[in-house]
Amino acid sequence: SLSDRLGGVFDRLRGRGALTEADVRTAMREVRVALLEADVALPVARDFVDKITEQAIGQNVLRSITPGQQVVKIVHDALVAMLGADASELLLDVTPPAVVMMVGLQGSGKTTTTAKIAKRLSSGAMGRERKKVLMASLDVNRPAAQEQLATLGTQVEVSTLPIITGQQPVEIARRALQAAKLQGYDVLMLDTAGRLHVDQALMDEMKAVAEIATPQEILLVVDSLTGQDAVNVATSFSEQVPLTGVVLTRMDGDARGGAALSMRAVTGKPIKFAGVGEKMDALEAFHPERVAGRILGMGDVVSLVERAAESIQQEDAERMAKKMAKGQFDMDDLRGQLQQMRRMGGLGALAGMMPGMKKAQNALADAGGDKILLRMDAIITSMTPKERAKPDLVNAKRKIRIAKGSGTTVQDVNKLLKMHQEMSTAMKKIKKMGGIKGMMAMLG
Ligand code: GDP
Ligand code: MG
Repeated sequence: SLSDRLGGVFDRLRGRGALTEADVRTAMREVRVALLEADVALPVARDFVDKITEQAIGQNVLRSITPGQQVVKIVHDALVAMLGADASELLLDVTPPAVVMMVGLQGSGKTTTTAKIAKRLSSGAMGRERKKVLMASLDVNRPAAQEQLATLGTQVEVSTLPIITGQQPVEIARRALQAAKLQGYDVLMLDTAGRLHVDQALMDEMKAVAEIATPQEILLVVDSLTGQDAVNVATSFSEQVPLTGVVLTRMDGDARGGAALSMRAVTGKPIKFAGVGEKMDALEAFHPERVAGRILGMGDVVSLVERAAESIQQEDAERMAKKMAKGQFDMDDLRGQLQQMRRMGGLGALAGMMPGMKKAQNALADAGGDKILLRMDAIITSMTPKERAKPDLVNAKRKIRIAKGSGTTVQDVNKLLKMHQEMSTAMKKIKKMGGIKGMMAMLG
């Protein structure tokens, strides 16, 4: 997978602060290969990589993940943004009938998708109002193509235009439009003839139909297994008719989803649906997150990176534990810990499970929580740098000075010193238990 590959590239970089230009360029070569393997068309992969290279350079690498994982996250986020930039609803808000026209190569799934969408609209799926839908097949090339749609129509309980043999596509479109208007249909779905590859005679026919039917939606239906040809398909169709969206079929198969990115890049139109099977309800809204994951061939790298911020807190806590065990935990560290406790995350939450730490936390709560924190902050500020580094130096005389300086009492200063003492002891216990990791393992 891409993360494995990037892991190799970045092994030597672990622990560095920011992604340098050279690092990113090396990584992006791997990203490009991954995109091509996922069937993203070459020019699309190239443009995409160029765009995100700039974005990635200089980004800080979170300490608890590898630079490779960080790059995967950057690439993933950019993919999601690109795949799902627009809302993907059918826009049928016009004086009826709204016309939806399906175009695409032969076998891409136009007829099947026509019936699936018709079913969705007529059943009022997803809480929308039920539409009265009429379907018409304009496919006079493939034998029994019109019958195929009629059969599906019966299955999904949606009307189809009666078949009159010998009529040409433009004539059928006119008749369908007429019928839809006269019989009060809300939506007319036009299923067009398939093309094996881009063919000018059929393109002209499609254009003529689009001109007389003025569709609100022209959906390009594309097999998600389409590889490098995707750019060619998308370009030819979008040059001939004003596409409004894309449907990707066979997403139930093992396609890596690269066609989705190619389609978005070339047409600039939203992917409105994904076909996920042959059955009539196997149509889904398009999920950019899922497809981005599929393209990168990664499982949980993204969530791993999202959890990294938490891990950093844990790392901090471990570093702190070491300092404490060595007796290096000073008042500045305590101040940091008190602030963290206030946020009630990381070490604070963990501390609640430890006997010594719990005492410290309870003392804090008893003393008024947030208010005492501010007071303690003032006390620490009133200490000299030497006293902060070595709290043992704080004798009775110094306590009076510190209390005066911070507007608190000697009792408050004592409380703070006691808390520091308790935390140090607790941290030594943690160390005996095998550090914070060992402790977490014991807690289960
Ligand atoms: P058309 O030539 O573009 O009209 O394509 P069809 O709608 O006739 O579909 C061709 C074949 O693909 C049929 O066997 C469909 O059942 C199948 N098909 C269409 N969409 C999907 C899909 O999303 N997943 C799967 N597995 N098969 C599909
Ligand atoms: Mg068909």
